[in-house]
Amino acid sequence: MRRKVIAGNWKMNKTPREVRSILTDMKDKICTEGVDVLFCVPAISLVAAVESVKGTDIAIGAENMFYEEQGAYTGEISASMLVDAGVKYVILGHSERRQIFGEDNTVINMKVKKAIEHKIIPIICCGETLEQREHGVTLEFVEEQIRSAYYNVSREEAHDTIIAYEPIWAIGTGKVATSAQAQEVCADIRGCIERIYDRETADAIRILYGGSVNASNAEELFAMPDIDGGLVGGASLKPEFADIVEFGR
Ligand code: PGA
Repeated sequence: MRRKVIAGNWKMNKTPREVRSILTDMKDKICTEGVDVLFCVPAISLVAAVESVKGTDIAIGAENMFYEEQGAYTGEISASMLVDAGVKYVILGHSERRQIFGEDNTVINMKVKKAIEHKIIPIICCGETLEQREHGVTLEFVEEQIRSAYYNVSREEAHDTIIAYEPIWAIGTGKVATSAQAQEVCADIRGCIERIYDRETADAIRILYGGSVNASNAEELFAMPDIDGGLVGGASLKPEFADIVEFGR
């Protein structure tokens, strides 16, 4: 049995002061027994977030990082900086990074390798547009994203990574994929991992669903055999996040 992961993605929301106050309030309402819970917050609030959840099993993740160690990369943040701040996870290749900031599969692969090198768990995002779904190329497209993300990543290194399947048409739209649609793609992603590595690795990797997850649809989604939790945007800023975590326990 894979342990479920419930990850909040706060995107570009909340100031450091607000992050501190929301997490201080939320941490006592969340039960982490039997489930991995984490909040991914804006870079400027990472230190405040780590301090706020100290003494609990809640972890903090970054929403992005750069693949170089250090140097002349104005505005970027390195893996060592995240480690030093107490950050355990990093979201990589979110569709907003891909679409708005032009990150491609090659860049995402470099970031994945750098995160693993520093023992930060990457949450590797993939997912198709509505147009791709309508053209019937979803599985093909997502498999290409997965193959690229894991290029030159060894079986041992892949073992603890996390994948988040997030159909772009379901993100922030309130239009959640049906549990059958989400299960189909997550099962296919697991098959793809098996083809790259082996069955054992495919069985170990946690695959999350993301895209308008809330307290009303989480139970059904998390009951699917290949869905190991959720990457939750909007609802992770609300009290209902504690209920979503309950469905992962
Ligand atoms: P949403 O965002 O839950 O607000 O749809 C999910 C995500 O983008 O990770």
